[in-house]
Amino acid sequence: MDAAIITTYRCPMRCKMCNIWNNPTKVSEEFRPELLEKLPKLHDVNITGGEPFVRDDIEDIVKILLKKADRVVFASSGYFNDRIVKLFEKYKNYPQLGIRISTEGLSCKNDELRGRQGGFDKGLSTLLELRRMGIKDVGFGITVSNHNSPDMLQLYELNRNLKMQFATAAFHNSFYFHKYDNVITNKDEVVANFDELCQRLMKENSPKSWFRAFFNMGLINYVQGGRRILPCEAGNENFFLDPYGNILPCNGMEEDKWFDTMGNLNEQSFEEIWNGEKAKKVREGVAHCPKNCWMIGTVSPVMHKYIKHVIPWVMKNKLAVIKGGRVDTEHIPFFHVGNNDTQGLGLNNPNQLCECEKDKSE
Ligand code: SF4
Repeated sequence: MDAAIITTYRCPMRCKMCNIWNNPTKVSEEFRPELLEKLPKLHDVNITGGEPFVRDDIEDIVKILLKKADRVVFASSGYFNDRIVKLFEKYKNYPQLGIRISTEGLSCKNDELRGRQGGFDKGLSTLLELRRMGIKDVGFGITVSNHNSPDMLQLYELNRNLKMQFATAAFHNSFYFHKYDNVITNKDEVVANFDELCQRLMKENSPKSWFRAFFNMGLINYVQGGRRILPCEAGNENFFLDPYGNILPCNGMEEDKWFDTMGNLNEQSFEEIWNGEKAKKVREGVAHCPKNCWMIGTVSPVMHKYIKHVIPWVMKNKLAVIKGGRVDTEHIPFFHVGNNDTQGLGLNNPNQLCECEKDKSE
């Protein structure tokens, strides 16, 4: 099982596409690190915020999560570079610990969109220092909006040349971001840039990059308004812990569509919450969720679970690229793998082809 630990809603950045910074938690409201002892054994853990390094006790949090999880990766603005370097210095013999610095483009674009001068330089210098120290699992993460999809390709090249990881997302609306007006209006440009990213990823030698091409093909579908390629199983294969101790299925819910929590870890054990009636009700909500988020936290678990559907797409498109062709991002698949038929309904991407019949015959 995967988890995202939202350590705080405090954040020093002033991003245009996210209002978390405008709705901070009070330090006294945030869970104490000891609460994490209640979590079960986990596979992938994402430590996020707000800005996780704003917390004075971040090291206590990491110490517990490293015992619980196979892999622990920070999502950070990189603003507190000294604190980041200090922590990684201490844990440099833990290859399972990594970091993605959220960056919205090259220097000018990043600082404009994240509302802080010098943010890009801080992020880049942090990553370079971590690389110098020998930390392997480091890289940038970009959230694509109307304003920065060309920069995504430049940032990708920078990462590739520095041999770093590169995570992508497209902006979403949700309770978590306190944003409800994020809309991609220049769809053609954004789709073309994601398509180009898919082509470049598929040309790489690393299978990890080929699967990233699949994820980015899913982002094209999201931008075009299609149903999720793979079902959303939030709250089944993963969970989010918020700073107040609530266990949530995801960070994509919107109050006017639906919002629910499974329970609070301050009041119950994880097992009581996970197997309880409220969790059942939340999973019903997920099964009927009208949204079609495509964010790595809820996509990664289903890419692993339904890998037998993902691999043929990856192989077919890799083969096409080897033969001098292109990754097909025009015909987007929809894998009907036991999804509730009402999940994500109401949206329609004319380029999306249902793989239902193929699935039924297997
Ligand atoms: S699609 Fe999934 S991640 Fe998005 S709001 Fe619905 S349940 Fe949450």
